[in-house]
Amino acid sequence: MAKNIQAIRGMHDILPEQSPRWQQLEQTVKSLLAGYGYSEIRMPILEKTDLFCRSIGEVTDIVEKEMYSFADRNGDSLTLRPEGTASCVRACLENGLLHNQTQKLWYAGPMFRHERPQKGRYRQFHQIGVETFGLAGPDIDAELIFITARLWKALGLEGIRLEINSLGSSEARAAYREQLVEYLSAHEELLDEDSKRRLHSNPLRILDSKNPDMQAMIEKAPRLLEHLDEDSRQHFERLKALLDAAGIEYRINTRLVRGLDYYCKTVFEWITDRLGAQGTVCAGGRFDGLVEQLGGRATPASGFAMGIERLIALLEEAGAETPIPRPHAYLVMFGDQAELRGMQLAEQCRNAVPGLQLVVNCGAGSFKSQFKRADKSGAAWALILGEDEMMTNTIAVKDLRGDSEQQNIDQAELENWLHTVVDKQLENFGE
Ligand code: ATP
Ligand code: MG
Repeated sequence: MAKNIQAIRGMHDILPEQSPRWQQLEQTVKSLLAGYGYSEIRMPILEKTDLFCRSIGEVTDIVEKEMYSFADRNGDSLTLRPEGTASCVRACLENGLLHNQTQKLWYAGPMFRHERPQKGRYRQFHQIGVETFGLAGPDIDAELIFITARLWKALGLEGIRLEINSLGSSEARAAYREQLVEYLSAHEELLDEDSKRRLHSNPLRILDSKNPDMQAMIEKAPRLLEHLDEDSRQHFERLKALLDAAGIEYRINTRLVRGLDYYCKTVFEWITDRLGAQGTVCAGGRFDGLVEQLGGRATPASGFAMGIERLIALLEEAGAETPIPRPHAYLVMFGDQAELRGMQLAEQCRNAVPGLQLVVNCGAGSFKSQFKRADKSGAAWALILGEDEMMTNTIAVKDLRGDSEQQNIDQAELENWLHTVVDKQLENFGE
């Protein structure tokens, strides 16, 4: 027998038993975002490699070593998107969505990064991202944080803490950068290889280093927050006031710089200690420079992206119940005539009963095997169509979860009976 082909390392199937949890999470996010007036945008998964080089920056982990780039059949260099922001800006510019208007957008889907796979870190992973354009104030930064805080609550997640920082304007950052390089150069013997390489290309990223040997030195480095321009300082003060007024707790982390180069002013992360080293579940901030960098008019922008795998892991860790599909009924049929009538009846009931979840047994089978499948489906009721029922134009209904007696009802009555079952279930869930 030929050897089975396996999935690519770091890329995973989401199996039927896991997908209800994903759907529930996605549904929660979707309705929450709709409630804040955000619209969905869907972008292609493939983009020109240049888009990411120009937006994310050449001297970043992503562009240096994590992108899935390849030449297509025409020899054009394409890349599987490593994140959504660049594509979102490209799509907005290309479709004139930023002209004389503001936008509040979200997207969801797979992202690709060639990293070392480990718990919470994959090569194909999923993000839900939110981006806003044309809004320059701290109010929208605060709203983005409110949305995420509300989401954790809606999902029943606890122990996710908020860290915030301000990166200032690019001018203030340039001045700070000089001081930082001076400081780091004076401690060059303590820098690891990555940091030495970045010393002049991207020194701020050194502050983000996870290398334990460098922590003490980084701790004493000059702080960006103490070198903010007046505008950024006021923006940050106002953001803090808005968070305080909403009762949202946060910690100011002066070393929070984010991995991507296009951020300015507000940056924030939501972090948990419950997932080991991969604890950042959501990261965001302001990127006022990006639209212009990609060829548009200067446009303020602010957004965030959250890692779905990490949120799913957190839900599992918290012991949150997996939603189990519970069809209303499972139809078993014995004999050719019963099958003919049964499938006809099932379609009629679907026409007549909105919201009906009815599984039809396909592939015939013995009494025992059909009931085994009915039970496994999670259905509340079995509908039974055998020779006896066919002779009397009835159908037997059997309670699979309770202990009420099996009864026979007229086939003509089945629609009404199913109506009642569906209504009762809706009542029970208080919907
Ligand atoms: P990290 O520091 O963990 O590498 P990052 O700064 O590269 O994160 P972002 O580009 O800001 O991450 O992406 C936003 C979120 O997407 C992260 O906070 C995380 O939850 C998730 N994420 C990023 N990379 C991965 C990955 N390889 N596998 C799973 N989730 C990821
Ligand atoms: Mg990363």
